[in-house]
Amino acid sequence: MGMTKQNVAGGSGDNSGINVMSDLYTASLSMYPASLQKGGGYIKVSQLLKHLEVNSAQRISSWVDSMKASSPTHVKSPPSLTEDNNSWMLHHPSALDMFEQIIGASQGKQIVMFLDYDGTLSPIVDDPDRAFMSNKMRTTVRKLARCFPTAIVSGRCRDKVYSFVRLGELYYAGSHGMDIKGPAKGSKYKKGDQAVLFQPASEFLPMIDEVYKELVERTKSTLGAKVENNKFCVSVHFRCVDEKEWTELAQQVKSVIKGYPKLRLTQGRKVLEIRPTIKWDKGKALEFLLESLGFANCTNVFPVYIGDDRTDEDAFKILRDRGQGFGILVSKIPKDTNASYSLQEPEEVMSFLQRLVEWKRPNLCRQQKV
Ligand SMILES: [Mg+2]
Repeated sequence: MGMTKQNVAGGSGDNSGINVMSDLYTASLSMYPASLQKGGGYIKVSQLLKHLEVNSAQRISSWVDSMKASSPTHVKSPPSLTEDNNSWMLHHPSALDMFEQIIGASQGKQIVMFLDYDGTLSPIVDDPDRAFMSNKMRTTVRKLARCFPTAIVSGRCRDKVYSFVRLGELYYAGSHGMDIKGPAKGSKYKKGDQAVLFQPASEFLPMIDEVYKELVERTKSTLGAKVENNKFCVSVHFRCVDEKEWTELAQQVKSVIKGYPKLRLTQGRKVLEIRPTIKWDKGKALEFLLESLGFANCTNVFPVYIGDDRTDEDAFKILRDRGQGFGILVSKIPKDTNASYSLQEPEEVMSFLQRLVEWKRPNLCRQQKV
């Protein structure tokens, strides 16, 4: 099918990829009534259901439950949750309320900033290709990078996340840290002439590509399902799929992955992700970046990692284990986390980053306000 080939070509995450993604979305919409008429897609799924082992069905329902819990469609706080929420906020207070204490803890140390993208710098939207960050947020991150070494760590492919952020002075770790590059333009933190470049999973590229094609094919009958090629990993987005279809979609994904023991599934906010089994994650990327920045065995470094997703927990845990810096979880609801502080939403992340800039370079803020 032409569509599939085109998608592969766009897999490097350039603009053509974005167009192809929306084409794919439109195609899946128009395909829906057709597949209903033929009855093809649905019969296949019900046959699949029969062949699933109990264990795997349990795992799928736990993914789906946990995806629903971590991405509530309607934010609600029934009275019974208030107590839990209070206790959670006690253990993970707002990074804005604790700003003075945070600055106090960083005294004499080099702050290094790590920022997730989706749900941290940009709001979670229905169409992942339209997860734009505001100009105000971009300006804030640009100023932040003038104060501290700053890295974006995302599950998306590096080119795609760069196309959203568009700041050459940052470090970028795409595909959950499996694709790392240093600043393209002058950064005072850049060591030597070469931009850092590290791709620990390059041997998996052909396999990922193959799985991507299979997933596109297998999920095309599910209305709203969207498969994104993130180069070193593949994301299957559930955001536009009716919750009633989630279990079936998860089973479709699982059935594709079955044939690839070297790949594993992880789950995020309304997304299932397929990645190589190599021991590499956002936490490892954080450590790699700290090392590249020359802070390998330093005690005077203070990394701050802000993220909203399960995959960010690997980075939060590294910071907790190292006893250096801390993680900030972006969440409106209590979650099990290794982060020390919380922020409710990207707006609050921006306020926190602004306060860091104001504290470090009051002049930078005054100059730019004029
Ligand atoms: Mg995120």
